[in-house]
Amino acid sequence: MQRLAIDLHIHSALSPCGEEEMTPNNIVNMAMIKELDFIAVTDHNTGKNLPAVMAVAKEIGEGICILPGIEVATKEEAHVLAYFPTLEGAMELDEILYKHLPNIMNRKERFGPQTIMDKDDNIIGEVDKLLINATDIGIDRLWDIVTAIGGVIVPAHIDRKSYSLISALGFIPPALGIKTCEVSKNEPIEGIKERFLFFKDYQFIHGSDAHQLEDIAERKYFLDLMDMRRINLIRYLG
Ligand SMILES: [Zn+2]
Ligand SMILES: [Zn+2]
Repeated sequence: MQRLAIDLHIHSALSPCGEEEMTPNNIVNMAMIKELDFIAVTDHNTGKNLPAVMAVAKEIGEGICILPGIEVATKEEAHVLAYFPTLEGAMELDEILYKHLPNIMNRKERFGPQTIMDKDDNIIGEVDKLLINATDIGIDRLWDIVTAIGGVIVPAHIDRKSYSLISALGFIPPALGIKTCEVSKNEPIEGIKERFLFFKDYQFIHGSDAHQLEDIAERKYFLDLMDMRRINLIRYLG
């Protein structure tokens, strides 16, 4: 077994609320400085910066592994992290999500730019629809879509009073087979487990939900995996 340091919830500059400093190179470099083993860049309802992040990690990110992910806002206004063993899987979900976002365009002066970058941090485009809106995909449907592509879903910041599956539904739909939930980085997992009786059926991980570089997690949240293959992490999570 290997003890691997993780932060599986990081936003890039593509999320309107993500700082402009959250470029693919800056994120990978900061994760290396912090000696993380596994990170996931999980923008709101899009994966369009994942190709750049993964290309950067391949080029300079020695010892660091990127898990392709997206933070999906479901119809219930719950934020749910979707992770995939491959970039292709994440991009398949990206395409579906775009079609299921409302036709409301981003106003960048109000919400911030939604910047798509290449592996050299050059701006190569923008997403036109506002990404922080909820999609019209319900949690049950999302489960079906993500698992059909070979991914897993992890409800995000389950401790929060807004935009979490618990704040939206009051429970985790047992039929879905969710195994892991994420809690905010400063929330002790032991305390969370006592909050609801049904939490005993789940395992919990911490995520930073970083929107700026300094908020990327320190090397203090660990998972034990056989090795650093993405598929092992996917199997652990789901
Ligand atoms: Zn969120
Ligand atoms: Zn987030």
